[in-house]
Formats: sequence, structure tokens, C-alpha cells
Amino acid sequence: MGCQMECHMKKLRIGIIEILANSPANTMYSRIMRVNSASIMPQVIAVWLEKEGHEVFLTHYSGYKCLYEELPDDLDFIFFSAFTTSAYVAYALSNYYRSQEIPTALGGPHARSYPEDASKYFDYVFGFTNRELVEQVVRERHFCRAYEMGTYVTASGHPSDLPSVQERWPHIKRMLKKAPYLKIVPMIASLGCPYTCSFCIDSVVPYQPLPYEKLKADLRFLRTKIRKPVVGWHDPNFGIRFNDYLSAIEEAVPPGSVHFIAESSLSLLSEDNVQRLRKNGFRVMLPGIESWFDLGIKSRMKKTIGMEKVERIAEQVNMIQEYIPYVQANFVLGLDSDEGEGPFELTKEFVDRCPGVFPTYNLLTAYGRSVPLNLQYQTEERMIPIPFALLNNDSAMNVRPKNYEWPDFFEHLLDLLEHTFSRQAVLRRFSNNGGLSIKMMNYFRANTQGKRHIRYYKEVLERLESDRPFRAFFEQDTKEMPKYYTDKIMNTLGPLANWLPENALQHDPYAYRTTIDSGLDNLYQPAV
Ligand code: SF4
Repeated sequence: MGCQMECHMKKLRIGIIEILANSPANTMYSRIMRVNSASIMPQVIAVWLEKEGHEVFLTHYSGYKCLYEELPDDLDFIFFSAFTTSAYVAYALSNYYRSQEIPTALGGPHARSYPEDASKYFDYVFGFTNRELVEQVVRERHFCRAYEMGTYVTASGHPSDLPSVQERWPHIKRMLKKAPYLKIVPMIASLGCPYTCSFCIDSVVPYQPLPYEKLKADLRFLRTKIRKPVVGWHDPNFGIRFNDYLSAIEEAVPPGSVHFIAESSLSLLSEDNVQRLRKNGFRVMLPGIESWFDLGIKSRMKKTIGMEKVERIAEQVNMIQEYIPYVQANFVLGLDSDEGEGPFELTKEFVDRCPGVFPTYNLLTAYGRSVPLNLQYQTEERMIPIPFALLNNDSAMNVRPKNYEWPDFFEHLLDLLEHTFSRQAVLRRFSNNGGLSIKMMNYFRANTQGKRHIRYYKEVLERLESDRPFRAFFEQDTKEMPKYYTDKIMNTLGPLANWLPENALQHDPYAYRTTIDSGLDNLYQPAV
């Protein structure tokens, strides 16, 4: 065990890599678009560390460029941020840097959801993060030797304030250079969410608005740097205090001088509010419908279910699209409230009633300890150890469905996808969308993403019916990962596969319950 504690803090060279791709890829999307999904926290950590006098190198792994060219070799410490679907890339890169005796830390959604697993591959794993904790870890820079578990560290919650856009600007500017056409500036006005959707990581984070004055200053600053900025709000549910936020935007910048993208629950999107959003430059909205039989609170339809809910929501979503050019509706499939063909048929009905809307279908996924409900799935022993790379909401479902056999579920899903991306539906979407760029974007998404999903689900269905080890894995008769998955993942990891630690493809899907049962659940104890 090595410890590099020093009495006098010297200036360190610190790397930060935000991992945005789950494999190397030389696609058009990874070259020009993917960096637009960069998050705010890596930039925040960079600013905090710079304020401490360190030299920080922040970069994004979009899949197409070799990272080693973008970071110096002589780093003293390196932070990673990753979603679960990119965990293997993070594990492989951490292994590489640890082989150079550079201590590593992981933050972001994967670290919060799977700390037990991530601790095997990083020296530090972060839960909630604040400035004191980051500084403390960098001061300590404990380096684990082989087989030693990393340290889990967490603050008691999210920070109460974050660095401004002006402070983050050097990092934002460098990031936007990698997005030659559409450049989206990440901003955030609130943390957490007051709603309690059982599957959502933000449902367990108390709602907290960030200072309005800072929001106004950020927007004003942005207009001095970009002629017509596009801001992507990273709030889990934008506009909870609707009038306060919209008033702040209206005071800061002339209407329409900044374009906005936001994710808001339907309960906030009344016609008056949507008109005000339009006036203020909101161009893309991503309302979550989630289910026809559950989660009605966020759409103010607690008691309305089934066809009645379809009728009311379709009407509201069509109203939204009269004002907002691009609307994507998000659904979750496979919830315990779903049964039979009903949820799928109702979703098809919604697709027909809202021909201009782009629907996305997320498969129920229980991300480790991200929400308390996952403990129930683990207690009911319904978890499938689907490899992390496939936990991207649409490649696989890691909870055995309560009311479906696997082939039935995938048959219904395939039928829904074929309906959503049929030639007729794609043409209707095209003619109901306004503006060539939106028409083309939806046409392109249907023909790439939509068709790819159809091909993939067909293959899964065929394997469930003909590939015994594959079916046995889903039926929980074996924990051995099907060769189909291991080959697929190792191939897509390319050269990074050489750095993937041994056995890293396997994880314990019951780790959360085991930790709780063993009375060792100190993972939620705040370190600072
Ligand atoms: S409304 Fe959205 S952000 Fe809030 S808990 Fe539900 S899914 Fe999460």
C-alpha cells in the first residue's frame, strides 16, 4: 500500500476524462455530435481543482480519438466520469493509468449505482461529491495495490452551488470545438426532483433550486461568447418553479436570443406555460410519459390509466408540439404494472395519435443501488447479470419481468418498434414535423436507431428461442454470460479489451442487498 500524503500541497497535474462512449467508434455521430452529451460535474471538478492551484486537463472520450494523445503522461491523479453503459471503458482506462502508478477515481452515475463493483477497479469511488471531498481525495491520493479495494467516499448530498458558466468557459470552449455543427452548452438550474418515480436516480435527491442570479449572469455571459447560443438544461426536471425560472430567463436575455433544450414533466406543461417556453426560445422538449398504468403523478393523472390516459396525454402532447418544434416522448416498458399486450397496444395508439412526436422506449433497468426499489427486485431474486455495456436502457432489461415470459415481452416490443418505425409512421412523422432539419433528424433517427433496434430485438428473440445457454441466462438457470454477449463486448471494445481487468465483465447484481444484509452498509455515510 502506498500513501502520498504531503504536508505542503504542491501543484499537481490532474486529468479528468468524461467517458461518453462505450466503445471506440469512428462514426459520424461520435465525431460531430456525441460531445454534446457531456455533463457538468467534470467541468465543476476541473474548476474546483484549478482554484486550488492545480493544472487540470479535462477531456471527453467520444469513442473516435485516442485519449493518450490528449492527456500528458506525467499526471499525478486522474478522475473518470461514466454512465454504467461505459463502465468497461472506464475500467480499462483506469487499469492502464494504475499500471503507470497514477491513482484513479470514478464519479458519475455508475459510481453512485455500483460502488461495490467499481471499488475493485479504482482507488476512489465517489457517491455525492462536493469541493471539500474532491480536495481531500486529491491531497491524500492513496494508491491501491493489486487486489486492494478502493475507497468509497461521499458527501451528504449535492453541493449547494456550482461554478458559473464563466468559470467553466475554458472547458466548455474546448469541448464545443469537438462539435463542429450543433454546439450545445450544458447548464443546470436545479438539482434533484420533488417527484418520486420509482426507477429514477433523481427521485432520491431532494429538489434544490440553484441561485437565480447566477443563472441570469450565466445567460448574459454566454451571449457575449456565442452569437446565438443553444443551451441544454441538465436539470432532471426543468422548471419545477416555473414562473421563477422563466422570469429569470426573461430578465436576463431578450426572448428567443438563446435556444433551449429541456426535459420537463407533463404536469408543468400547461398551454400557458408552453406558450411562454416557446416565446423564450425553447425548441426541444422531452416529456416523460413512462407508463399508461403507473407513475401518473408527474403528469397530474394519478387516477387516470389506460385508454383514458392515452387520449388525454396525446391531446396534451399534440398541444405542446404546436408550440415546440421538436418533441420526444419517453416511455418505460416492462414495469411491474404492465401486463399482457395492453401497454404496447396503447403505446401504438399514442404513436398514431401523435404522428409528429418521436417516441423512445426504455426497458426497465435496475441500476445497482441507484434507487431503493432496486432492493425489492434483488430481494425477489429477479436480477439478471446483464453486462454493464448493455445497460443503456434499450439493449437489455436486467430485471425479470413480473408479468411476461421473455419471448412474449420481446415479441410485443418488436411489434411496437415495427409499428413506430414502419414506412407509413416515418412518412407521417416527416409530414407532421415542421422545418427541414427536424424532418431530416427524425427520418435519420428512424432509419438508424429505429431500424437497428428492430434488427437487434429480432436477434434477441431468435436466440431466446434457439440458443439454450442464452435462454438459460435469462431464465436465471445459469449466471454464465452467453458467449454472444462476451464476444460482442470484447469486439466492440477493440484495443481497450487488452486493458479490461480480468473478470470485469461479471458483476454481482445482488451486491446492494448483500451489503445491506451483512450490516456493512456504510456506503451512504457521508465522509464530509
Ligand atoms: S419526474 Fe423525471 S426527474 Fe423527477 S423523479 Fe420522475 S423521472 Fe425522475
